[in-house]
Amino acid sequence: MTGGPTEVAAILRQVLGDVGVLTGSDAAVRTVGGAEPVPLGADVVARPASTSEVSRVLAVCSELGVPVVPLGGGTGLVGGATAHGAVALSLERMRTIHEVDPADRVLVADAGVVLEAAQEAAAGAGLDLGLDLGARGSAQLGGLVATNAGGNGVIRHGMTRQRILGLEVVLADGTVVDGIRRMVKDNTGYDLASLFVGSEGTLGVVTRVAWRCSPRAPAKATALVSVPTFDAVVALLAALQTATAGTVSAYEVMWRSFYDLVAVESGRHRPPLPADSPFYVLTEVEFGSSSDAGERFAEVVRAMVDAGHVTDAVVAHTAADREALWAIRDDIPALVGALGIRLAYDISMPIATMEGYLSDLGEALEERFPGSRLVVFGHLGDGNLHVTIGGPDEHADEVDELVYAPLAALGGSISAEHGIGRVKRAHLRRSRSDPEIAVMRSIKQALDPHGILNPGVLFD
Ligand SMILES: Cc1cc2nc3c(=O)[nH]c(=O)nc-3n(C[C@H](O)[C@H](O)[C@H](O)COP(=O)(O)OP(=O)(O)OC[C@H]3O[C@@H](n4cnc5c(N)ncnc54)[C@H](O)[C@@H]3O)c2cc1C
Repeated sequence: MTGGPTEVAAILRQVLGDVGVLTGSDAAVRTVGGAEPVPLGADVVARPASTSEVSRVLAVCSELGVPVVPLGGGTGLVGGATAHGAVALSLERMRTIHEVDPADRVLVADAGVVLEAAQEAAAGAGLDLGLDLGARGSAQLGGLVATNAGGNGVIRHGMTRQRILGLEVVLADGTVVDGIRRMVKDNTGYDLASLFVGSEGTLGVVTRVAWRCSPRAPAKATALVSVPTFDAVVALLAALQTATAGTVSAYEVMWRSFYDLVAVESGRHRPPLPADSPFYVLTEVEFGSSSDAGERFAEVVRAMVDAGHVTDAVVAHTAADREALWAIRDDIPALVGALGIRLAYDISMPIATMEGYLSDLGEALEERFPGSRLVVFGHLGDGNLHVTIGGPDEHADEVDELVYAPLAALGGSISAEHGIGRVKRAHLRRSRSDPEIAVMRSIKQALDPHGILNPGVLFD
């Protein structure tokens, strides 16, 4: 780096003005990281208000050789936005929703727009972004794109990648690549937008997003059900999809370990069902008309009881009922409060392999760390499990090995939806082959030859 933070801040102030640059305690108070926040770590936070200002910040930093870490809402869970020794480039002043077009079903917005604001704008036009997650009040569109976020609706609407029609991106040297497209059909060469989706701020700064929306379903119905076996969990999903013409929009499975801890032990909820079942499924279905959707879904659930897939159930009849059910599934603070966040994993594998994998993991943990606690929940329909382990905090490397080592043979992934960031960098090789990593490095080298964008994320 040429010049220290004070010199860099002074140069950036010439580009962005005082309002566009934070230093000292204004920068030091910034945190990132969700339930257990850590300091952002940047001495300088640049806050451009337009794409051309982003371009000038990157041109200046590139010239000076100063590393730049793009910063969205700071809710990422793999340490991708920590910015020690770098300029944090925050998109927080770029919050304009430029267009919501119901005919083409597209929303075009700045990357700094918060997910919830985009959801509300889309809803106002009868559209649905098709993406939702617990951090909706802070996560930004640019952050969602950079991490290829998943969330609760993937089973019906796909990951962020499936929602992106086009992106405007600024490269490390300040070049603006305007790839905003509104068309689903556009086969004119490489899919450049897709290259930046999931690139975690290592290839460019996303400044504007064309987001593919879905028609907004007139009604959703929600139920929490007790399920007697893992086979029944799998059979229930298939039966629900058949009974509802494939409109299941959430299928969140909580193992008893999770339900016990969050719904009962934490004392933070009124348990809607007794804690005597091995599995609980929080499921949601979209309906084409709002009249009696709850009653129609209750009928479907009764049929699932008759078929033996479900032993007990509660169907939400009001918005408050629905919120209370989701509050259990989303209560990560209760989980973190009890077990800490140090040994929390976001993995994926074929559904058929899950039961055996978890049984083996439980046995291995009990043998090596007797008394440790294995708590599991996840977006099962997407093959995605969130596994949290309480107890052997001091033995993270060994626990990583127990969790990750079997995944390759199962065709699974060490990161289902949170990305690699800095936290999982050492494990990338478990999910990507050497030739794949070599291609990724070539792309990085081509777009960011001096390695100023988010160094230390994905690769050393
Ligand atoms: C309570 C909670 C629930 C969550 N649930 C889910 C879930 O269900 N599914 C899921 O996938 N994730 C989930 N997450 C993780 C997180 O919300 C997502 O990773 C989200 O996409 C991060 O967005 P952000 O704006 O906060 O990005 P940040 O945390 O600010 O950044 C994340 C990464 O993206 C890069 N980045 C940010 N903005 C840009 C940009 N404009 N251009 C280029 N790079 C950029 C950063 O450098 C960093 O590497 C959850 C987090 C919390 C706290």
